[in-house]
Amino acid sequence: MVLGKGDSMKTFDVAVIGLGAMGSAALFNLARQGRRVVGIEQFEPAHDKGSSHGESRIIRLSYFEHPSYVPLVRRALEKWRELEELSGQTILTVTGVLEAGYPGASIVSGSLEASRQHDLTHEVLSAADITRRFPGFRVPSNWTGLFQPEGGFLRPELAIREFMRQAENHGAETRLSTRVLAIEPFGAGIRVRTEAEVIEVGSVVIAAGAWIGDFAPELKPHLKITRQVLGWFSPLDRSLFTPDRCPVFLLESEDDACYGFPDFAGTGVKMASHREGLALPAAEALVQDGNSADEAQIRRMLKLAMPDANGPLRQMRTCMYTRTPDEDFVIDLSPADPRVVLASPCSGHGFKFASVIGEVLADLALGKASRSDISRFQISRFGAQSSRGTTHKKQEATP
Ligand SMILES: Cc1cc2nc3c(=O)[nH]c(=O)nc-3n(C[C@H](O)[C@H](O)[C@H](O)COP(=O)(O)OP(=O)(O)OC[C@H]3O[C@@H](n4cnc5c(N)ncnc54)[C@H](O)[C@@H]3O)c2cc1C
Repeated sequence: MVLGKGDSMKTFDVAVIGLGAMGSAALFNLARQGRRVVGIEQFEPAHDKGSSHGESRIIRLSYFEHPSYVPLVRRALEKWRELEELSGQTILTVTGVLEAGYPGASIVSGSLEASRQHDLTHEVLSAADITRRFPGFRVPSNWTGLFQPEGGFLRPELAIREFMRQAENHGAETRLSTRVLAIEPFGAGIRVRTEAEVIEVGSVVIAAGAWIGDFAPELKPHLKITRQVLGWFSPLDRSLFTPDRCPVFLLESEDDACYGFPDFAGTGVKMASHREGLALPAAEALVQDGNSADEAQIRRMLKLAMPDANGPLRQMRTCMYTRTPDEDFVIDLSPADPRVVLASPCSGHGFKFASVIGEVLADLALGKASRSDISRFQISRFGAQSSRGTTHKKQEATP
């Protein structure tokens, strides 16, 4: 788009590109600090074409991936409670978290390690203990488990809408159904170009989910987009799977790792495999095409560990993970321009952190140090250069 004589360019302190989980949270945190901020989203809020749809997301403290995530989850919990207070909505439901698996399962051993290191309340359970306590679970007799009472599930679509509503209440502007085509650094700031306008800003947060490679070519070779499938099943006995009797759960067998949710909305028990799904060539390739092979994979775990939940299929949904090789997040300044903040907190476990990552992204976009420790998420671990001393370059999204 070319500006004509008399056209005025809108200016803001910060633009947030992508209003999914991370972008909507960043928009809220920036607007709340009185910054002039604009959020731009190519679809409608809480859409089903990215990584943040499907009714529920697990939040857990005993972090099997690495104990260093625990302080970040604690801050995330505080920030979720803050959003609930501001919005008057129930976004977080505490059910506790049950993790169970075969002898040596990494989910159980990793969670135990994190619980011990961070002194989290937890109980180690045998297979018989699990069934006694939570009768919907009948895991193989050689499995062990760990129950951690503090976690539960979040409502992703509601959270995104509430972050946006709160941001708008604090003066944030939004552009919906508007695709950002390019960001173009110039001397004093950055120009953000959409089909409809050009906006000038001081800094940019790129929270574009599976599309982040469009803006950060240096990241693209390190990211893999995969198709993941969610299934909802009518339990044979619903009374065993209500949230008061069935916590959120992670189950690891010798050949799969699945997670799931109680039937909290009358929509069934939801379960999905965390194993790497089919690689997608680009985010646009995601379609809602859950099939009988996907269903069969999930049913194998239901049959093995939760036979009373193995009833009729209600629905399937597909969603995308954006994975890094080490499954840790990317939250950093762009190596090409320190006024550009890159956020790719996915690898299938990022949603629970959105509330605190919004705070972190606001700090970084305003040129401050992050108040939470994000040293694990640096781009330099992939061998990319630091932003200092490099020249700005045009970053063009695919149209
Ligand atoms: C099936 C599944 C289950 C999961 N389960 C859990 C769980 O239980 N617990 C957990 O913590 N995490 C979980 N995750 C991970 C978590 O959901 C993701 O980490 C998180 O949703 C990523 O949020 P995001 O903001 O990065 O991406 P998104 O929410 O996808 O947002 C990116 C946004 O950017 C927009 N965008 C992209 N390009 C442009 C452009 N050029 N112009 C304008 N807008 C643009 C997109 O339209 C999109 O709305 C799961 C993920 C999946 C797929």
